[in-house]
Amino acid sequence: SSQPYVCKLVLLGSGSVGKSSLALRYVKQDFRNVLPTVGCAFFTKVVDLGASSLKLEIWDTAGQEKYHSVCHLYFRGANAALLVYDITQEDSFHKAQQWLEDLEKEFSPGEVIVMLVGNKTDLGEEREVTFQEGKEFAESRSLLFMETSAKLNYQVSEVFGTVARELLKKAGDQGSR
Ligand code: GDP
Repeated sequence: SSQPYVCKLVLLGSGSVGKSSLALRYVKQDFRNVLPTVGCAFFTKVVDLGASSLKLEIWDTAGQEKYHSVCHLYFRGANAALLVYDITQEDSFHKAQQWLEDLEKEFSPGEVIVMLVGNKTDLGEEREVTFQEGKEFAESRSLLFMETSAKLNYQVSEVFGTVARELLKKAGDQGSR
């Protein structure tokens, strides 16, 4: 079929870590949808992965993370999550760990592909969380891990592309069962 496989990806993390900036940087003009009525917004982008493609619905929290409670609609049906922190704010790294606990309450292990993302690498002089700390935490919880700069467009498409490839791989594994 020519209809791409659709996956829902949710952005999680403290305020100001750069969730919206990452989504906007990646999606650019491909802005499609806003759902202000439920307090959540999403963008869609078709990810071209050579032989196959996948349509990502990228959900942003629209500021609800301030209350550390996003609507259940936000999590519902999610296939992937980016746990974003700011490498210059250690507190945001701890918050990402809390968001992971929330995710683990909503989903069974392996149900959602999760990537830990340390954003704002361009502010290296103010760094409070080392690459190694991020990597070790991710490995200890079997998460994917990357550092990015939405500002410099560093590793942004790699984050979404890697998650999209993992989603396709998972769909393929399930389909062949
Ligand atoms: P959100 O609240 O997590 O969605 O964060 P925003 O995307 O609104 O970004 C919060 C602030 O951080 C804004 O002023 C952005 O311009 C800035 N920002 C986002 N990403 C980066 C980055 O990679 N580097 C730098 N230096 N600033 C960033």
